[in-house]
Amino acid sequence: MTYRIGSGGEVPAVRGVSLSLAAGEAVGLAGESGSGKSSVALALLRLLPRTAVVGGQIMLDGEDVLTMKWGRLRAVRWSSASIVFQGAQHGLNPVRRIGDQIAEPLLVHRMASGTAADARVRELLEQVGLPAWRARSYPHELSGGQRQRVMIAMALACAPQLIIADEPTTALDLMVQAQVLTLIRQLIADHGISLLMISHDLSVLADVCDRLAVMYAGRLVELGPSSGSFEHPYSKALAAAFPTVGDPSSRLAPRGLAGDPPDPQKLPDGCSFHPRCPVALDICSTVDVDLRPAGADRTAACVRVGE
Ligand code: ADP
Ligand code: MG
Repeated sequence: MTYRIGSGGEVPAVRGVSLSLAAGEAVGLAGESGSGKSSVALALLRLLPRTAVVGGQIMLDGEDVLTMKWGRLRAVRWSSASIVFQGAQHGLNPVRRIGDQIAEPLLVHRMASGTAADARVRELLEQVGLPAWRARSYPHELSGGQRQRVMIAMALACAPQLIIADEPTTALDLMVQAQVLTLIRQLIADHGISLLMISHDLSVLADVCDRLAVMYAGRLVELGPSSGSFEHPYSKALAAAFPTVGDPSSRLAPRGLAGDPPDPQKLPDGCSFHPRCPVALDICSTVDVDLRPAGADRTAACVRVGE
């Protein structure tokens, strides 16, 4: 997946990422800012800007999202898969009542109307831990955490099979962050929904997800069960950088991860991580390896794995 930029330039934002989610499974996608996580999320529902060029296949329940006709794609968004963005609560319309905004995807997709839609809105509000009377409130009458709950209610409205949550709690304070995460975990378990949850904070993801995928400089460098320990030096460094859920000190000054990720237009030769890698070998500056077996149900893209 590449972004075209001015004067013929290209940004290879995502390179050869292959990932699958089973029904009811929660997969976490981690990586520092700029590693390509949001580009993956947006590509899944073809929400990337027109400058983006996507190759490969994005199979949703046996259908390739990339070749869907526009009408089909619109039906699929929300009703089969929906997305919750970082700071999405700022996207609520300030002059419309919460209930009307939650009802909108129901009406657009003709899932319910009239009193049935009202009843569904009340049910959704309760599912996200808000009282039904909140349907009559305006966004400014709610806290940031409550507004993010409203966004989750909207994402659930059409009973999707897949929810993509891109940094859903990053903009919230710590207590609220924990509450919203607990809510998401509970909802996907209760409804058998698949979840792709994106964060730069591995401890947040480990709490919610069955499997964790780690991206670096546009590539998947590790994939494995969230209960196991990491094998790729980048995943290890990232895990050490954010040791506890929402710890503000680790958020401000990540430990054990010096330097910055590379500019995707000027990737180093060999393994993209080698200039920052504490255990790099000579070979790492020339050879970039694919994901390889790294223990039970785990793969990692590092020459040192399986040594
Ligand atoms: P993440 O969500 O992990 O922070 P992104 O997917 O947002 O990463 O970005 C991946 C890379 O693509 C970054 O280098 C970013 O600067 C670049 N990028 C993102 N959006 C665009 C765009 N619209 N045009 C050009 N480059 C972009
Ligand atoms: Mg992002």
